[in-house]
Amino acid sequence: MKETTRTDVNELGEFGLIDHLTKQFEIKHSSTVKGVGDDAAVINNGNWLTVVSTDSLVEGIHFDLMYSPLKHLGYKSVVVNLSDIYSMNAIPHQILVSIAISNRFSVEALDAFYEGVRAACDHYKIDLIGGDTTSSNKGLFINVTAIGRARPERLSYRNGARPGDILCVTGDLGAAYLGLQILEREKQLFLDNPDLKPDLEDEKYLVGRQLKPEARGDIIGVMAKEDIIPTAMIDISDGLASEIYHLCKESEVGILVEEGKVPIHPDTERVALNFNMDPISCALSGGEDYELLFTVDPGDLEKIVTMPDVYIIGEVTVKEQGAVLKTTGNNFHRLTAQGWTHFQK
Ligand code: ADP
Ligand code: MG
Repeated sequence: MKETTRTDVNELGEFGLIDHLTKQFEIKHSSTVKGVGDDAAVINNGNWLTVVSTDSLVEGIHFDLMYSPLKHLGYKSVVVNLSDIYSMNAIPHQILVSIAISNRFSVEALDAFYEGVRAACDHYKIDLIGGDTTSSNKGLFINVTAIGRARPERLSYRNGARPGDILCVTGDLGAAYLGLQILEREKQLFLDNPDLKPDLEDEKYLVGRQLKPEARGDIIGVMAKEDIIPTAMIDISDGLASEIYHLCKESEVGILVEEGKVPIHPDTERVALNFNMDPISCALSGGEDYELLFTVDPGDLEKIVTMPDVYIIGEVTVKEQGAVLKTTGNNFHRLTAQGWTHFQK
């Protein structure tokens, strides 16, 4: 019998696997401006560029119906895709929504999911233009594709950061991750004692950040008004450290982040300590914040400092410097896609 090798997908990791599966595909059309490798693909349509992105959410992996209301889930499924379009500095216009459902789901349950989809479509001014409905053996599977557009000169890719650029982030980080920890804790308490009613009232902010995130279309609007085009941009879906790794890799630069400048909400601070976690670790490795991480030319500094909810957290350096976190105690840590390790500078 012929010997076959079997490689575990975990050996490659998510990014390695995508690279492995897609590297042998050649671009055949000049209209394909950007294929695999950014937050969204870019297609040339003459005066405008079309920007497309797709994401899937799988029950038991990305959400737990014990604590994710279907309406919120519908909203979130749309938002996470819009975030990838905004992170190209483009404006989303349409979505396609596909679902695979088992007979566990009633029409009323799906109505609730679509109520959330509709709320997101209304809030972000998006048209639902299609999708697919099919069956699954057990869990709920959701796929959303978002389509947007931008003028060619306005797009921001992951690969445009240059040494000397200013590193900025929107909103605050780490909250969605702690929201998830709270929901998981309450779920466990409920499973241990079903008479207990979960008390989430005090943690509305963190739980809300997990169950009903928003995409930063407002920031993209302000950028257009102020005529700022980020040299590079990415949305924070996997945690600040992972996104910094992507910017460094694609732009072939280093990045220095100052711990004391990373925006962290007071609730995040308090609850992280309750869970015996370091708030900065939640910001670096938590994920699902759907904030924007971007770099701008130093000449845009004056405009940036007046932008609401935008924080300067560091600077772009040369590749040889790598990705580095400067702590509040003036220590230096090397940032990795997963988090950070200590090192002597
Ligand atoms: P994001 O976290 O911004 O959604 P991903 O890490 O999911 O981005 O994807 C990175 C890039 O890899 C994107 O260009 C995406 O379209 C592409 N990609 C991911 N999975 C596949 C796949 N199975 N086949 C082809 N391209 C893929
Ligand atoms: Mg993204």
